[in-house]
Amino acid sequence: GTASFASPLFASESTLLPFRRGATLLPLHFNENSLGMSPKALAAGQEAVRIMGNRYADDYCDTLREMLAKQHGVSKSQIVLGNGSTEVINAVVRWLGKSNAVLLEPSPTYSQVSEQFTLAGLDIIQVPTDAKFVTDIAAMRDRAAQIDGPLLINLCNPNNPTGTITPYEILQEWVSSSPSEHVFLIDEAYYDYAAADPAYETALKLIKQQRDNVIVTRTFSKIFGMAGLRMGYGIATEKTAKVVDAHGAGFNLNAAGLAAAIAGLKDESFYQHSLKSNYQAKQILLETLDQLGLEYIPSHTNFVLHRINGPVDIYQQRMKENGILVGRKMTQQDGWNRVSIGVPEQMEAFCKTLKAFREKSWV
Ligand code: PLP
Repeated sequence: GTASFASPLFASESTLLPFRRGATLLPLHFNENSLGMSPKALAAGQEAVRIMGNRYADDYCDTLREMLAKQHGVSKSQIVLGNGSTEVINAVVRWLGKSNAVLLEPSPTYSQVSEQFTLAGLDIIQVPTDAKFVTDIAAMRDRAAQIDGPLLINLCNPNNPTGTITPYEILQEWVSSSPSEHVFLIDEAYYDYAAADPAYETALKLIKQQRDNVIVTRTFSKIFGMAGLRMGYGIATEKTAKVVDAHGAGFNLNAAGLAAAIAGLKDESFYQHSLKSNYQAKQILLETLDQLGLEYIPSHTNFVLHRINGPVDIYQQRMKENGILVGRKMTQQDGWNRVSIGVPEQMEAFCKTLKAFREKSWV
């Protein structure tokens, strides 16, 4: 594509800026997409506010569900739209919570599911990743085999905050030998960044094999750059999709987000641009980490977990004092930080600061 896209160093200047806390800081802490969204998606979202802001958005829901069904080769009734994939994740927890399911997940992983389990007073089993931060499926399978009743297996793939992947074959082997009471939530929020890796594959195939105990979630928050519009979805068999949908918030989506998602899905050139920008920015970061001899975990996502040679709370504070928001403590062992990949200029700025930290022996 020949389209050119704006790549703001910081959030764009606007009258709304004062309402965003820390708006003048470089935000590399939430795995957002600093490119913003496709200009076509933006225009569609704005237009939807104008012409649809006073209407219920059922028709847009229908259109988006149809597009996603077509893209994924499933039926419309297999798509559960959510207010971000978070809503779908929460709906799965609410559903399984009714039967007092136990949660099994790797550690570290994205904390949404375990937070919901804690809130519901349900049991959680966490299995440490291996020394290279790869999800230890063999150990997880061993634990799962000890559980007779309802079990939710939370597998974020690629995983957050590690950036690592679980190969499809290994997952497939586990799922196909599992009892139906063991339900797999496969969080593919970062799917797009890993899709080109031959070792990686979506778990959608399992749903196409009619497995009722698999739910895949996806989001518009990452590669599509729409985190603030809260658009995500789940895919499952018709039977499972229906029950998950029933546990969601209901009547949950807004016209602007829907219109933007519909337009964003059609904008293949932005999608490619977004992927490429992330790749280029990641290369800038990895080059600097290599130069500084800071170990990092090979990333299949829009963030990198890397060593910082010191306590993360002090590092985080120092970065903030230098205008940059980075991750927080997410690993059992201290001395690692997760930094989100911004646009290339942002990564140049981050790397410059990191090198200055080295001068001061702070990393
Ligand atoms: N799942 C993972 C693994 C995430 O990292 C995130 C956000 O960072 C989410 C889900 C939430 O996504 P959404 O914005 O679609 O609710």
